[in-house]
Amino acid sequence: MRMESLNKIRKTILEYDTMRNKKYHVVGDVFHVLVGAILSQRTRDENTDRAAKKLFSVVSSPEEIVKMGVNRLQKLIKPSGFYRQKAKNLKKMCKVLVEEYHGKVPRNRENLLKLPGVGFKTADIVMLYGFGVSTIPVDVHVDVVSKRLGLVDKNAKYEETRKTLEARFDKDMVSVNSGMVEFGQKICLTAHPKCYMCTLVKICKYEKKNLVPPKKPGIYSSSSNLN
Ligand code: SF4
Repeated sequence: MRMESLNKIRKTILEYDTMRNKKYHVVGDVFHVLVGAILSQRTRDENTDRAAKKLFSVVSSPEEIVKMGVNRLQKLIKPSGFYRQKAKNLKKMCKVLVEEYHGKVPRNRENLLKLPGVGFKTADIVMLYGFGVSTIPVDVHVDVVSKRLGLVDKNAKYEETRKTLEARFDKDMVSVNSGMVEFGQKICLTAHPKCYMCTLVKICKYEKKNLVPPKKPGIYSSSSNLN
């Protein structure tokens, strides 16, 4: 990829970062980041936020989650969806944190990946937002946007995508991650990308660009009976 194209992509992504609602994406306490990442699996930011607020209004450590009854835990995290499975994972994960790491979150990707309920994306969220390590969690938006723009090979798996993006954007990874997610949610939609209004359309490698804007409903386009 030409440096000029990469710089334009970076500039655009960082612009989208400034438009993102940051209240759901604060860099902070690493245990909160880890639990929040687990709660965020397969749900929307606002649901994660509601569940996390309820949970952290009564607990603040892995020990407290281990001691908590599973029914109570399920009830607290219910707004995040899939709450039975998430409660099970949280219980198991906190038990490992207490027994093997003195109740602390390990600052090590390999050890994070061994925790119950923690996959690549969750581990990388913790590394980036909890420990401030320069990496990028590859969620569906990061994956789709980076492949369409030709930043990574379109057949790349998680690890290849992460490493390639780390090499291309070597700094400001919190902003790059957040901007890419925002760009994916607002413009480069998974199902129907808004290529007709995308400023990166000339650089983009996506073969099925959606270049025709949707028609605005006109006064004669409704199905009203005019007979
Ligand atoms: S042109 Fe379309 S597919 Fe390419 S980055 Fe823009 S919105 Fe996404």
